[in-house]
Amino acid sequence: MEKYIQLTNGVMMPRLGMGTWFLGENLHTRESEMEALRTGIEAGMRLIDTAEMYGNGLSEQLIGQVIRDYDRDSLFIVSKVLPGNAGRKRIRKSLNHSLKLLRTDYLDMYLLHWPGSIPLEETVMCMEELAAEGKIRAWGVSNFDTDEMEEVTSVPGGSHCAVNQVLYHLGSRGIEYDLLPWQERHNIPVMAYCPLAQAGSLRNGLVSNKKLLAVADKHEISVMQLLLVFVLQRDSVIAIPRSRKKEHVLENAKVWDVVLDKEDMEIINKEFPAPKRKVPLDIV
Ligand code: NDP
Repeated sequence: MEKYIQLTNGVMMPRLGMGTWFLGENLHTRESEMEALRTGIEAGMRLIDTAEMYGNGLSEQLIGQVIRDYDRDSLFIVSKVLPGNAGRKRIRKSLNHSLKLLRTDYLDMYLLHWPGSIPLEETVMCMEELAAEGKIRAWGVSNFDTDEMEEVTSVPGGSHCAVNQVLYHLGSRGIEYDLLPWQERHNIPVMAYCPLAQAGSLRNGLVSNKKLLAVADKHEISVMQLLLVFVLQRDSVIAIPRSRKKEHVLENAKVWDVVLDKEDMEIINKEFPAPKRKVPLDIV
């Protein structure tokens, strides 16, 4: 499996990174969270995904404290703007605040967190300006279904939309029906959020499934690692598992050598089939 994917503007983006939702919010776990992030960076997980929404800036602040010790250019930092701030009036204030908390002067990727009421033409124009000024290296969207992807890519500058970050895990495969193939046709990678189904809590019976456990055992990996391998085996997918424990982060970083064979996929497809018709985009 390739560790990087080339975006349409030439930027190389790591395919495995760390999510940070809820990180930075609890004073008691702050130190271990910082250690988990450092461990991940040192184990090669150089993409960090955050958002202005996470802990109302606390996640970005935590990341800022960690990344100041590393060469900024070796990292790939993604943040997200809230839909209500994604217009001419407020986007610069949001971005500058994120940059300040993150202690950096640019983002590698800036995402519109979910579709909102500000016209996409306006959001895209702002993103394009920020990119031209070098404040962001690329921009994209999140929680967009196929029709919304059609819409955003058809406004002026919209063809520069670099990724769409959506919920995707082995127990929720709705995007395989049309969104994922659509994005592959348009060279727009999927950033899979909740790739671990929030440690299985998003799908009953997922992590306790005996057949999945047997596939994981066969490859001498955990079910969590199997969930990551499942999404990463598609070249166009990027995964951002979150963990506040360094042992888990190290486990999540070690998935590159596993290849699922035909027999494994038959088992997976039988236990957790992809839908055969359009289903609405899953969200958390
Ligand atoms: P994940 O699917 O990444 O699951 C996180 C959970 O898995 C935590 O409880 C964590 O616990 C546990 N975990 C992680 N690694 C292991 C392991 N090796 N073994 C056992 N348990 C493990 O959920 P998230 O919701 O956090 O999604 C990932 C990221 O995606 C977010 O953090 C965020 O950055 C992004 N996101 C984006 C959204 C959007 O709207 N764009 C929406 C939701 C998420 P522990 O800490 O104990 O390891």
